[in-house]
Amino acid sequence: EIVCGSMFSGKTEELLRRVKRARLARQPVQLFKPKVDDRYDAVKVVTHEGVNADALPVATSEELVGSVSPDTAVVGIDEVQFFDVSIVRAVEGLANRGVRVIAAGLDQDYEGHPFGPVPALMAIAEYVTKLHAVCARCGAEACRSQRLVAAEGQLFVGGSAAYEARCRACFVAEAVAG
Ligand code: ZN
Repeated sequence: EIVCGSMFSGKTEELLRRVKRARLARQPVQLFKPKVDDRYDAVKVVTHEGVNADALPVATSEELVGSVSPDTAVVGIDEVQFFDVSIVRAVEGLANRGVRVIAAGLDQDYEGHPFGPVPALMAIAEYVTKLHAVCARCGAEACRSQRLVAAEGQLFVGGSAAYEARCRACFVAEAVAG
């Protein structure tokens, strides 16, 4: 399962909702996040609304797979866009042995381009949920993450102050647009 969309679209909230339901069903769940994302908390997955759950930070997809316990039924992964493309085979391996994998992440980077492994994950997933935020400019459904500060590289991780959600019409492809 892939939960994707722009920033502020509620991806982490939806991931944690599914994880909570699995726990209510007494299914062993493990939650992971990439080590690169240290915006809010080193261990917890935290939504912009402050809802959180314990997550194990892993540096690579190999470390993620190696950390999955034999009895784990559900694996949740937040900010999956920050893994390299090897995450695709890693989650496919887990899914092939019967693990339910729920991965949440950005589908597009700040330039509106497909983000890292997410397009490939969307292609092999049984279920894709694309969420929308609200455009900060006009209030329409937003599908893009507008970067508001100058920074180098796709992997720049900013807090909510560095980005805002924009619709296709209000989005400006240049790195800085205020
Ligand atoms: Zn707009």
